[in-house]
Amino acid sequence: MIKSVCGYCGVGCGLEFDTSKLVGDIAYPSNEGLVCKKGVSELHTMQTSSRLLRPYLRTAYNQPFELIAWDTSMKLIANKIRSSTPERIAFYLSGQMLSEDYYVANKLAKGFLGTSNVDTNSRTCMSSAVVAYQKVFGLDYVPVRMDDINSSDLLILVGANVAEAHVVFHNKIKKARKKGLKVIVIDPRFTSTAEHADLHIPLRPESDIDFFSLVALRLIEDKKINTHYIENHIEGFDTYLKKIKKLPKTKLLKRCDISKALFETFMQFFYNNENIISAWTMGLNQSVQGVDKNLALINMHLLSGKVDKKGNGVFSLTGQPNAMGGREVGGLSTTLAVHLGFDEASVKKVGEFWRSDNVASKPGLTAFEIIEVAERREIDVLIICHTDPIYHLPNRHRVEAAFKKIPFIVEINAYDDSQTKPFAHLRLPASPWGEKEGTQTNMDRTVTRQERLTRQSIDCKPDWEIFTMIAHAMGFKNAFNYNVAAEIFSEFQQMCRLSENQHLNFFDFEQETLKNGSFVWGDNLYKDHHYYTPSSKANLHFVQNLRQSEYSSLEYPFIILTGRTRDQWHSATKTGIVDSLTSYKPQSFVEIHPDDAKAYDIEEHQKIKVTTRRGSLLLHVSITDTIKKGCLFIPVTETGINYLTNDLLDPYSKQPDYNHSAAKIILYGVTSHI
Ligand code: SF4
Repeated sequence: MIKSVCGYCGVGCGLEFDTSKLVGDIAYPSNEGLVCKKGVSELHTMQTSSRLLRPYLRTAYNQPFELIAWDTSMKLIANKIRSSTPERIAFYLSGQMLSEDYYVANKLAKGFLGTSNVDTNSRTCMSSAVVAYQKVFGLDYVPVRMDDINSSDLLILVGANVAEAHVVFHNKIKKARKKGLKVIVIDPRFTSTAEHADLHIPLRPESDIDFFSLVALRLIEDKKINTHYIENHIEGFDTYLKKIKKLPKTKLLKRCDISKALFETFMQFFYNNENIISAWTMGLNQSVQGVDKNLALINMHLLSGKVDKKGNGVFSLTGQPNAMGGREVGGLSTTLAVHLGFDEASVKKVGEFWRSDNVASKPGLTAFEIIEVAERREIDVLIICHTDPIYHLPNRHRVEAAFKKIPFIVEINAYDDSQTKPFAHLRLPASPWGEKEGTQTNMDRTVTRQERLTRQSIDCKPDWEIFTMIAHAMGFKNAFNYNVAAEIFSEFQQMCRLSENQHLNFFDFEQETLKNGSFVWGDNLYKDHHYYTPSSKANLHFVQNLRQSEYSSLEYPFIILTGRTRDQWHSATKTGIVDSLTSYKPQSFVEIHPDDAKAYDIEEHQKIKVTTRRGSLLLHVSITDTIKKGCLFIPVTETGINYLTNDLLDPYSKQPDYNHSAAKIILYGVTSHI
């Protein structure tokens, strides 16, 4: 029996492999034996005809890919890097990579090539939450764990459809409800999660800040704020109070598009429950005001003092299995390594630790900024690992055009059918889940080992080994002298000691213990309400809805919402090939409210053309009253979805505004079944 961990979502369920099948690990705390269909299907995605199994090169887009030897491909990469300059080189990584993979890629780029243009697809997922945590508490630290819901009275889920995106966490919520937990879902859609809630608040898209401002005003008016907590642990209350009191309540409620009675019901839930956790994901994060939306929600908890005590707090849910591990290592271009920034002292410490005098000294390009710079033909080399930016970055026509201006794109991938493939020059075969080993951190700071379950496919290599080979080809053999993943993790553990406060206490356990268990880093960090800000107090930030997203208009009367479906993962490269996963919902469809369908004379399953200012898609219609009037929902498994989405970025987190694209529709085809 081999113990491992699921490589799909941020819940990070423990699994057991028994010669031919995967089952949930009963002893593992994150899931206690529970798993969803995706997790147990991972075995079926390893040996498939869609795997990339050999390195391939082509010299130009109109040339075919041809086999190339590994060592020749490494020399080629090294030559391309040498003939460029650090600011023209970029790495684009993934929350699917293990921490060891991330560590080596980050060390190579930021430590030895001198470029901090190292970003990850986690930028598009939870960077708004990272920035909000840093602004309020001074640290990228998720202070709530999944099991805390068992000590809570009320869970408020905002823009988070956990029943489809975090299935096992949702099962835990359902269990907790049986013991008395109340659940409120705030979402423009009556999602599968809302079906199991006590209250559903169908906010109009983009009105989240208005809603939380109303809540804050009510807490103040009703004298329900926690004055003791505010006086002792909050910075900025007086300024906040002056500003929030000027907001027009009637207008805020109108923008939320909910009744006064529904808002009152929410407030009664808030007042009648002592211990409250709020959890959120893309509905707040993926916005031009993603950070502000996070801050507005966190403010509700700060004002009421419902933070940092059992059963209370603010819980950002990460989408990917190792999104948090990437943050710890330094996979975002806005951090250097191990939660250190680019200040002089940190750069010096990191340089000494890595024994390099070429450490990057300023933040680098974020995901979409790489596109903006590539448009000016200022990126020479782009190395992409385990992610599919052509599929997932917004405004795809723009991204495709920018990619064509990059002279050398390396795609490291385990699968052969990415949307990025047509734009790559060199393609390197990576080991997928089950053929490699290393560690990952789930959404509640639990560090676990992913184990190798079968032999490695003959010409495939784990990501850390590929980045090590590139480092060797560049002449950095001594600094990248790794033979196994465990050596890299040991180095990372030691590096975590560089931080002054040493909150990232990875050095507090032996790797061996992960073989049969897990480790939770930074537990109870804010026990005494002592935060990592200069004043040790949490910062209260006044925010207001700046209405910068696209809004519906006469020409574009709909707003597109995007999200996951339960049994598929992103572009469905893996899950789409497993028969047992393909029956729940089709990969591509568009949901529309019955009144809107009637107004456009559209019937179920007909094809419509959905058009935004950036592109069009043909989609089959699914008519449902679970969606708010004036909204459309398209699942992210529709691989062309980003021809429609907007590339507006949050100014602080640089996270794209995926969920607020204004659209128009026309009937395109006659009835045909999906
Ligand atoms: Fe994997 Fe997430 Fe499903 Fe757990 S809930 S089995 S981590 S996809």
